[in-house]
Amino acid sequence: MKIILLGPPGAGKGTIAKVLTEYDGSVQISTGDILRAAVAAGTELGKQAAAAMSAGNLVTDELIMGIMEQRLQEDDCKKGYLLDGFPRTIPQAEALQVLLEKMGEKLDAVLELEIARDIIIDRLTTRRTCTQCGEIYNVKSKPPKVEGVCDVCGSNEVVQRDDETKEAINNRLEVYQAQTAPLSDFYKDTGLLVSVTSSDKETVMAALEPKIG
Ligand code: ADP
Ligand code: ZN
Repeated sequence: MKIILLGPPGAGKGTIAKVLTEYDGSVQISTGDILRAAVAAGTELGKQAAAAMSAGNLVTDELIMGIMEQRLQEDDCKKGYLLDGFPRTIPQAEALQVLLEKMGEKLDAVLELEIARDIIIDRLTTRRTCTQCGEIYNVKSKPPKVEGVCDVCGSNEVVQRDDETKEAINNRLEVYQAQTAPLSDFYKDTGLLVSVTSSDKETVMAALEPKIG
């Protein structure tokens, strides 16, 4: 399947992407993960993205399109992909359409996760991420077995992201409202939009069924 996951930070896009990956082998492509890896590795791309990211602002459309144009042409995308965190602006959505047309591909659906703001803030402030493998934990609902140590890869770098302080979270939610929320109407017009108010597996699969079944 070829799906865009739309929804504010903390809505559960990454979790849903993993569920859908297991369903049919489609690959999860998270622009946030790609950028964080670049920052950690200290590449040129990472240097260009770091400041905007730690403040919770978006990096430029040019930078993101450069990444995605390459990424979508890699072999593992042939089975399908789940776009997590992209597109994030109307210009990115328009550029994606042009790119897909050029590649002769079509999206199956845009899955929008509509989650209440207080739930999101609670989730984000309690979220912890493994900087090595990207596994996501939650200090209340899903702590690692040993505090600070990743169950999956064993690294002791399960930490709070620097854009998950209260200040940065508020900014990310504002940025989402201003720049990304308009994508909902954009995709409604194309007939691809599927909205759900819960990120649990059964709800999401039932909603997607008509598009992918
Ligand atoms: P979130 O948890 O907010 O969905 P992500 O992991 O998707 O966060 O992204 C983290 C940061 O990476 C964003 O705050 C932004 O700075 C940058 N970023 C990720 N994807 C994009 C994108 N498509 N366009 C611009 N910036 C992006
Ligand atoms: Zn890990």
